[in-house]
Amino acid sequence: MSKATKLIHSIPVDPLTGSISVPIYQTSTFVQDAPGENKGYDYARSNNPTRAVLEKVIAELEEGAAGYAFASGLAAIDAVVKLLQSGDEILAVDDIYGGAFRLFTHIYQKFGINVNYVDTTDARNVAAAITARTKLVWLETPTNPTLKISDIEAIAKIAHDNGSLLCVDNTFASPALQQPILLGADIVVHSATKYLGGHSDLIAGLVVTKTKALGDEIKFIQNASGAILAPHDSWLVIRGIETLHLRVAEHSRNALIVARYLQKHPAVANVYYPGLSTHPNHSIAAVQQSAGGGVVSFTLKEDTAEAAKNVVCSTKLFKLAESLGGVKSLLCHPATMTHKSIPAEKRHASGVADSLIRLSVGLEDVADLLEDIDKALTGSVKLKYTKETAAIAY
Ligand SMILES: *Cc1c(COP(=O)(O)O)cnc(C)c1O
Repeated sequence: MSKATKLIHSIPVDPLTGSISVPIYQTSTFVQDAPGENKGYDYARSNNPTRAVLEKVIAELEEGAAGYAFASGLAAIDAVVKLLQSGDEILAVDDIYGGAFRLFTHIYQKFGINVNYVDTTDARNVAAAITARTKLVWLETPTNPTLKISDIEAIAKIAHDNGSLLCVDNTFASPALQQPILLGADIVVHSATKYLGGHSDLIAGLVVTKTKALGDEIKFIQNASGAILAPHDSWLVIRGIETLHLRVAEHSRNALIVARYLQKHPAVANVYYPGLSTHPNHSIAAVQQSAGGGVVSFTLKEDTAEAAKNVVCSTKLFKLAESLGGVKSLLCHPATMTHKSIPAEKRHASGVADSLIRLSVGLEDVADLLEDIDKALTGSVKLKYTKETAAIAY
């Protein structure tokens, strides 16, 4: 059975009524027949039938044994870190999502969990930095906003030889493009706020484990800490997932066209997109991802924050906002928005130049998106473009 068919039919018809859409069980508790005798549900923090469908669907999508739904991507990440104990270490990708950095460094370090950050695009750096205390290796691939790629399979071997777990934040690729468990990861996390939800209308997080035993540990943490996803939001993520493959394929197709167009644009210096053969990690991306995804970043020849601000304030279709993965195209200026709190030197070292602009390429007609970008870029370099120069081939 094809992936698309399997996905659509992994969302069950309601066994009670035949409802083709998953019912939203908006309830706090479940009436019991006798103490401890119930229909599989007792209290809605512990389990909810709507959430249970989402958890089953995401486990199937990621080819894992079990899935769990949380109130946000960060709540999902938090649940995974709670597998550790004081004295344990995390070895994490240096180009990590800012919220994960804040959680690891400013919350968990207080409780005696240390974090080391390395450039995981070279697996040898992981082998060199891993220690007897490393219980968890943490990857994001592709990373935000410079779309660096790490070799999941090679790093899974290094982690397992050391007795460590490998967790992959699969938010940027989504399971439509990349399934880290099939490449050796033990845990996958998602900000379902992005491609899984897909419509910029909710905040949600997911955890999938390779084994049932690890899943039982996450389940215990989910119930004990309580950061569960509400039934209505669970339903919205299920609804988003129904069209995940279609959307992500189209996001990727549009993004590749935008990336190729930017590469030829006279105002642009560098383009970061794993689907381009010029991307430094393209060969790994081509093996572990089925397409490049919907995020493209680029820098301007005039490498100033001012020039970038002119561009991000001039587009009409690309809306200026943080986040990504929705139907509408968004853009942001990491140096003054998402990565503002990182000192300039450290930011430059990780490739986030002053003029770097991140695009979340949406599902509009790509010709309209190119025109929108070109108008904004033309303004930024104060050049006059004719219709022909604007229509740089794609
Ligand atoms: C957005 C994001 C998160 C955090 O998710 P929230 O749903 O905003 O809590 C984690 N990882 C990555 C890669 C993200 O893009």
